[in-house]
Amino acid sequence: MNVIELLELKNKEKFTFSIELIPPKRGMNLDNLLILVEQLLPHRPLWIDVTSHSADIDYLETAEGVYQKRVFRKSPGTFGICAALKFKFGVETVPHLLCCGFTREETEDALIDLHFLGIFNVLALRGDTKYEREIPKEKTTNQYASDLVSQIMSMNQGRYLHSAGAAANFSVGVACYPEKHIEAPNLAYDLKYLKLKQDLGACYASTQMFYDNQHYYHFCERAKKEGVTMPIIPGIKIITNFNQLVSLPKSFNLTIPERLTFEFEKGSKVDKGNRISAMDVGVDWAYAQCMDLFEHGNRHVHFYVMQSATSLLRLLEKLKPIME
Ligand code: FAD
Repeated sequence: MNVIELLELKNKEKFTFSIELIPPKRGMNLDNLLILVEQLLPHRPLWIDVTSHSADIDYLETAEGVYQKRVFRKSPGTFGICAALKFKFGVETVPHLLCCGFTREETEDALIDLHFLGIFNVLALRGDTKYEREIPKEKTTNQYASDLVSQIMSMNQGRYLHSAGAAANFSVGVACYPEKHIEAPNLAYDLKYLKLKQDLGACYASTQMFYDNQHYYHFCERAKKEGVTMPIIPGIKIITNFNQLVSLPKSFNLTIPERLTFEFEKGSKVDKGNRISAMDVGVDWAYAQCMDLFEHGNRHVHFYVMQSATSLLRLLEKLKPIME
């Protein structure tokens, strides 16, 4: 089933969620990720996204103490994980596909693999890279996520890069940014390209994480005015330590409300003899966000889980009364 069908099928009165995971680092096995998924499955996530990572530059120290430049994908395995989770647990999975670091020819091969595996949902992204890979002249690339959406939709019509072939049936999601993408001069500019992704065939958008729901409401309102009619799924990441208050805005171009910083500072002090853990503060904040979204009619939230389920399990316990 595709993401839109999953959203249509659910009880419209109840709160549901999906999750996003990151593949383990190169050389690690899947054990921890499988445990994480097994912990969350009883709460019935509607689908599981798995992030994708292009090659990056790393400096590795040799036995002689010399640093050698290496270029490699630190966390490969997105499609393998999606297939493993789908077939082991029967849950729909959404692999992320990137423009950056991949030729259109490689993307076509990846899409053929996904088509054969029966994985029909993909999230089409541009990605970011510090490593500009040299592309052979005879190969082509996608510059923006919209180009990738076009390529996927062409395959849906049986138009492959160099030939006609079997029509695929991909359902394509894309990314969006309630506080705008870092490179966009303003929201209007960003929304123009979100609308383009929709016009080319994207059927839903997943948001960057945000910590003030007003950003999301304002973004949805503006998007609607610009003609974006596809569902815009709110993305939430539970903050579990103080450092994230600094690192998340830096990495993801988002703002942290003053009130949240205040709560973390307050939580780090002893409160009535009980030390409030940073995770409690983060879970309470995410709970308030989810309840507010629910009260505003948003019944589905996408959680950035990445590598640990502990905080989300605590949040889901609190959300039980509004869940199926
Ligand atoms: P695009 O839609 O291509 O937009 C990028 C920028 O270019 C925007 O500023 C936009 O306004 C502008 N733009 C778009 N089209 C055009 C055009 N035709 N002409 C001129 N300007 C244009 N990164 C990863 O590496 N792996 C992941 O798995 C991953 N998952 C993500 C999941 C979500 C839900 C989100 C929100 C982000 C994710 N990212 C991931 C990060 C994402 O790849 C980066 O934020 C990237 O910089 C932008 O990707 P995009 O798909 O939004 O790009």
